[in-house]
Amino acid sequence: MEKPFLIAGGGIGGLACALALARKGFAVRLFEQQGEFREAGAGIQLGPNMFKALERLDLKDAVLADAWQPGAQEMRCALSGKLVARIPLEEEFRAKFKEPYGVTHRHDLLAAYLKACKAQKLISLETSRRVESFRDEGARVVVTLSNGDEVEGEALIGSDGVWSRVREQIVGDGAPIVSGHIAYRAVLKKSEVPEDLWQPDVVLWAGPRTHLVHYPLRRGELYNLVAVFHSKQYVEGWDAAGDTALLWRHFKGQRPEVLRMLERIETWRMWVLCDREPVKNWSKGRVTLLGDAAHPMLQYLAQGANMATEDAVVLAEKLSEAKGDVAAACTAYQEARYKRTAWVQIMARIYGELYHAEGVKAELRNESLGARTPQDAYKGVEWLYAGI
Ligand SMILES: Cc1cc2nc3c(=O)[nH]c(=O)nc-3n(C[C@H](O)[C@H](O)[C@H](O)COP(=O)(O)OP(=O)(O)OC[C@H]3O[C@@H](n4cnc5c(N)ncnc54)[C@H](O)[C@@H]3O)c2cc1C
Repeated sequence: MEKPFLIAGGGIGGLACALALARKGFAVRLFEQQGEFREAGAGIQLGPNMFKALERLDLKDAVLADAWQPGAQEMRCALSGKLVARIPLEEEFRAKFKEPYGVTHRHDLLAAYLKACKAQKLISLETSRRVESFRDEGARVVVTLSNGDEVEGEALIGSDGVWSRVREQIVGDGAPIVSGHIAYRAVLKKSEVPEDLWQPDVVLWAGPRTHLVHYPLRRGELYNLVAVFHSKQYVEGWDAAGDTALLWRHFKGQRPEVLRMLERIETWRMWVLCDREPVKNWSKGRVTLLGDAAHPMLQYLAQGANMATEDAVVLAEKLSEAKGDVAAACTAYQEARYKRTAWVQIMARIYGELYHAEGVKAELRNESLGARTPQDAYKGVEWLYAGI
């Protein structure tokens, strides 16, 4: 009997991968180190490319059911309040990219993936199981878990995030690069947002070395806030408490709309933002990487989870086409994905520079983005939103 495919990590990427493999008829054992499947309490943006991947996983309707579809993306200057650019996301956008733009709560996204995985007999979801190391023995891969158990499988897919253990053994490029940018995030109930500040769109307030993004979540019942600024602080993980005084120092002097929004939050959670240089050696024999383990990126293009879901679809298709040659399928998957994901990694850094520009750079940004028509803006993201 064929051995199961082993997956390290049950975040968005790992669960998408389990589902994609099961839909192609492969048995899966997924190991998650935490005691439960859990996502940070925050929002996430989903481009048309994500909906194309979700369609292939038969998950699009489940995700859309809880999502919010904003009417536009807006950039405003956090010092003057002026509108810099507005990209409509309605009929013309949907006609162009054949899919909508969505924003959703991470819990809701994870819940949709988890429900679909639990409905699959071919998937075994195993929590409190940490992958420590692996051996590729040519005809099989053997994974060692932290309690000493050894598990054998057809292949190992490392979807264990930015601080991936599996990546250490395959790529070995050390710790991720700390960007020096920190994100503070919070989610409010709609009733907690002052009526004159609530907006149906994704709004980004660009300030010197800072930005604030806000948008509705969960069918409009919640409101997501992410404040980003430059800082040398470093805490590993995604859920440390944020120091409010530090936040205020960075946003001092900005528009009342920004400050009044920040004032609504009592407790912030903090993310230290990291990425890596793109590589193209994330597959070796029967072991490969997926999502942030393969190509961690800054969040400025809002694409990490989108890319992880696309990865899952492509990997499952390559494995299905390979007729048993697992190593060849892993290589084919990497070949199909590395340039696209590298481009997103690189562009995300550039977008971060633009959002946080000051002085002359900010002036130039405002002039060039402000001069674009919606059609120009759509053309600029065609490579991304066209999807896989
Ligand atoms: C502020 C911010 C905003 C973002 N906004 C967006 C957005 O709008 N749109 C978007 O698409 N992306 C966004 N992203 C990126 C997105 O969150 C990530 O790219 C995505 O969550 C990565 O998923 P993953 O499954 O690859 O990794 P993770 O979510 O990190 O999951 C890894 C999982 O593996 C588990 N694990 C780790 N090590 C082991 C081990 N050794 N054994 C077993 N389990 C293990 C972890 O517990 C975790 O559950 C944002 C990121 C940040 C920081």
